[in-house]
Amino acid sequence: VAKRLEKFKTTIFTQMSMLAIKHGAINLGQGFPNFDGPEFVKEAAIQAIRDGKNQYARGYGVPDLNFAIADRFKKDSGLSVDPEKEVTVTSGCTEAIAATVLGLINPDDEVILFAPFYDSYEATLSMAGAKIKCITLKPPDFALPIDELKSTISKNTRAILFNTPHNPTGKMFTREELNVIASLCIENDVLVFSDEVYDKLSFDMDHISIASLPGMFERTVTMNSLGKTFSLTGWKIGWAIAPPHLTWGLRQAHSFLTFATSTPMQWATAVALRAPDSYFVELKRDYMEKRAILVEGLKAVGFKVFPSSGTYFVVVDHTPFGLENDVAFCEYLIKEVGVVAIPTSVFYLNPEEGKNLVRFTFCKDEGTLRAAVGRMKEKL
Ligand code: GLN
Repeated sequence: VAKRLEKFKTTIFTQMSMLAIKHGAINLGQGFPNFDGPEFVKEAAIQAIRDGKNQYARGYGVPDLNFAIADRFKKDSGLSVDPEKEVTVTSGCTEAIAATVLGLINPDDEVILFAPFYDSYEATLSMAGAKIKCITLKPPDFALPIDELKSTISKNTRAILFNTPHNPTGKMFTREELNVIASLCIENDVLVFSDEVYDKLSFDMDHISIASLPGMFERTVTMNSLGKTFSLTGWKIGWAIAPPHLTWGLRQAHSFLTFATSTPMQWATAVALRAPDSYFVELKRDYMEKRAILVEGLKAVGFKVFPSSGTYFVVVDHTPFGLENDVAFCEYLIKEVGVVAIPTSVFYLNPEEGKNLVRFTFCKDEGTLRAAVGRMKEKL
């Protein structure tokens, strides 16, 4: 393997899902729903295939989808963007992140991450040869340490890459935190790469796109996807919204990474994004019920549970059960209890910082969530 990827192992999500199958454990690890996406979206994909929409799409997106993304973004954030010049369709948000980083970051540029961070951020920055500066968000509330951000950001900083709602913690950045990030970025001429794939799963506060704060659109790439919002994580349709000077760089990378994305799925995604408001209201309501079941269950089992305001994840402190670290705890949980969770130490530059924390997902049907809690109550 090339040096730029030497330190990375099989992703934790793949490792844990394979162990779940091997041990017949209930998988509350990798974040994918065990229920299907909506019929009207699946029908739209089948229709597009039957209609012969099966050759390469335009590189930066099927026009109808670029328009649907711009309309959705206007409704959600209030920002009007040019669907032709400011929207790029990618193969999932993971590709949007890769295209953004590879298209806009030079070797040795400094990029700031907030730990715990989603695993692809570090690997992608490593592929680009960037220098990572990491700021740790600490429990119980994973608040942004503002003084540390002030002392870390400098004229050498090229970008901040983060997500809100935040995977793995379920934290949502507050308006005050986003304002601080924005003013420091403007002062130091820093870009923001904002991964917002869980924006429709924001429960306890309204989601804010940092691009919508004054002076931020021109320095922000906003990324999102179909997968979480429509329970279709396997479709791998994502997008990046950015002003033309940033879109140019990320489109160049996208052109040579994947060139274009699945044509029929793009047509279906355009239909999905035009779903009535009731779809999004019900999605949120369903997930709030699931969150309540898992959170109450985990508390009853005896975990210290940290509040999750968004995403479909919740992070707990496993130390009441006496295992030495997160990896040992997750191994015990799979083998002796029959439940899979994600150890969080892989989401830190310094794994020690995550050793007390594990992540559970609640994107499963109620029966599965209750069965997992039942197993833990009985055997932990
Ligand atoms: N985003 C999903 C999660 O956090 C995992 C996706 C993947 O397996 N790479 O669980």
